[in-house]
Amino acid sequence: MVLLRFAPSPTGALHLGGLRTALLNHLYARKLGGKWILRMEDTDQTRLVQGSFDDIRAGLEWAGLDYDYGPDRPGPHGPYFQSQRLDLYHEHARKLLDSGHAYRCFCSVDKLADTRSRLLHAGSNATYDRACLHLSVEETARRVRAGEKSVIRIKVMVDPNSGIDMIFGKHREATSSQATDSILVKADNFPTYHFASVVDDHHMGITHVVRGEEWLSSLPLHLRIYSALSFRCTKMSKRKGDVRVSDYMKQGWEPEAVVNWLALVGWGRHKDPIPIKFDLSQTTHRRNILDPGKLRFLNKQHLQLKASNPNSFRELAKRALDMARTAFPGSDRVYHSGDFDITYIEHLLPAVLERLENFNDLPASAPYFFVDPDFGNPDARRLRKTFSLSDHRTILNTTYGALLKENLPNFTPESIRQALKNTRLSLGLRQPEYMDSLRHALTGTSNGPSVVDIIHILGRERSMKRLISSVF
Ligand code: GLU
Repeated sequence: MVLLRFAPSPTGALHLGGLRTALLNHLYARKLGGKWILRMEDTDQTRLVQGSFDDIRAGLEWAGLDYDYGPDRPGPHGPYFQSQRLDLYHEHARKLLDSGHAYRCFCSVDKLADTRSRLLHAGSNATYDRACLHLSVEETARRVRAGEKSVIRIKVMVDPNSGIDMIFGKHREATSSQATDSILVKADNFPTYHFASVVDDHHMGITHVVRGEEWLSSLPLHLRIYSALSFRCTKMSKRKGDVRVSDYMKQGWEPEAVVNWLALVGWGRHKDPIPIKFDLSQTTHRRNILDPGKLRFLNKQHLQLKASNPNSFRELAKRALDMARTAFPGSDRVYHSGDFDITYIEHLLPAVLERLENFNDLPASAPYFFVDPDFGNPDARRLRKTFSLSDHRTILNTTYGALLKENLPNFTPESIRQALKNTRLSLGLRQPEYMDSLRHALTGTSNGPSVVDIIHILGRERSMKRLISSVF
């Protein structure tokens, strides 16, 4: 059974890079018919941030990344908080001590800092001089009994292991002088990330590891722990970014678009159609991974897609209604019987949606559907200067008359179109000058949906009021 894991540390908000790592785990697991785990790596007690788990869970849920097992989804490999698995790590640390692959180190923090600067002075990158490597079993036991604080370190071999990463290729630790006897268990008895991660990947039966690129340089250490524990290992890594997912939620991006965008980041064949055929080996390690233009493009596509499905269309309309109520609290300025309601929003949405890249732009992109036009804005003033006042008045007056109920009993787009055309021809005007005048009076802008659509959406009464109040 293929089993992957997304293993964030609850040290802050979920970032886009983390979401992408989760996405790659999700896609790869689903592609291979496998499952994936959400594992919380909370072993660094000094960096825990309250509320991180909820933030991560909310981000994954928003993006539709449904893990099969996790702290809130019980399974055979739990518990899924590492802090609840300490016995397992201690048991393995003991094994490594017994087999001579690891040893206890009693050096204090101050002593280690001294050692480090001494080594640096001597031109070495190493961080530790193995001072405790040769302590005898008896001495070690005596100091432990005496209550002296210690950490457990792995014994690194002279020739560090190399690893093959599926995306980055062969990876070898730069020089053996950099290979340090890394800590596996800290003085507070909690394991380090490296140790807990390897033990858990083995015990949970993880078959593929997809993780942030920043862990690539740790690969030799992980392989060393694997071999010391006689575990067989799997491999590979992915990079991470640093952008909060919750910001994207707040900014109004569609989760489907963000997920789609992240899936295409670093994708080898950018022109592949959506839905993508996912293949991890097609993922490249190109830099400059986040292209905002592509997100806007995808977001627009996903908005169109949602609009074409009755259920998601209704969801969009509800969102729009909330947004409009927040953006225009003084809805009494609207020529409408009472507040704008969901029917009104459903009516205007298709016309507005065509132009939207981000749903949050809706109120700003078409405010005239919610409040009277603002003729003081630069666009309105510029447009106003392009037509003569008397022509403008004639156009508005005549069109007002054409929209009257006795002249236009059926208020449909088609009848409106015909009425406008007749009016324009009777005035002997060209389409652009006629429409610009109307558009200005109705919206105070020079662009947007067609004038026919605008009149139809605003309704007879409101349209006529706008025309007549613009005349004076
Ligand atoms: N806890 C690590 C992190 O948050 C996970 C790395 C891994 O997936 O092994 O980056």
